[in-house]
Amino acid sequence: MHRITIGNVEVTALLDTNLLMNPRHFMPAHADEFVKQYGDQADARGLYPMSITCYLLRSAGKTLLVDTGLGPRSRPGFPKGQLPDALKAANVDPGEIDLIVNTHLHIDHVGWNTVEDEGGKTQVFFPKATWIIQQNEWEYWMQPEFLEAPGNDHLRECVAPIEGHAKLVSAESALDEHLTFIPTPGHTPGHVAIGIASQGERAVIVGDASHHPVQLEHPDWSPAFDVDPVLSAESRDRLFDEAAADGRTWIAGHWQHPGFGRIVRLEGKRVFQAL
Ligand SMILES: [Zn+2]
Repeated sequence: MHRITIGNVEVTALLDTNLLMNPRHFMPAHADEFVKQYGDQADARGLYPMSITCYLLRSAGKTLLVDTGLGPRSRPGFPKGQLPDALKAANVDPGEIDLIVNTHLHIDHVGWNTVEDEGGKTQVFFPKATWIIQQNEWEYWMQPEFLEAPGNDHLRECVAPIEGHAKLVSAESALDEHLTFIPTPGHTPGHVAIGIASQGERAVIVGDASHHPVQLEHPDWSPAFDVDPVLSAESRDRLFDEAAADGRTWIAGHWQHPGFGRIVRLEGKRVFQAL
């Protein structure tokens, strides 16, 4: 079990699944350079390890979950998620979760929001939780052109059904005395990172502001699925610099599990040091 504390906030990494990433699908505009510069990190098939990690937080007397992984359904090109096994290993029942924060509303961050019961009826998987979602993120994806699009089953299955359980907020609101939102738009319009500050210690849960450590050197290598790749590169670059400047703990759900470390400057370059 990978667990760290940031002052009075406890952070436990819960693996939903590991993935193998193909740069030709993931960032086709930069795939040639990716392979040229980082080919030594690939496996025999030219694939690169990534993870989908959710984070369980204990903060200010509440239990929170940041992102809910891929979920139980078969999705083209993705494995099924295993978050319930990780929760069990951490001795946490889904009914104990008070708040769920979806950093944004993509398929690999909302999967366990809901499950289907034996009768095929959609139920929330966390029966007592309130979902905290950015209002602009919700409004963007709930537009009919996205909600009704054939490839967006996850919006119909995992996002729309939680409406009665969700509180829509702006990034200026604080989650509690230790937890804030850090607006990091670009990947999606309402994407947020989560800032943690307690007892003089700091951390950031980066969400999809960055998918892979190669972006430390190449913040402009935006994945194909960034809604605004220029804006996402700016958000990513800023988040890296802020983390390097004050040494806050870096918590990245798509970097290799558990995704805990620090961004440091070595000889003028930003470098990741895993915890
Ligand atoms: Zn993601």
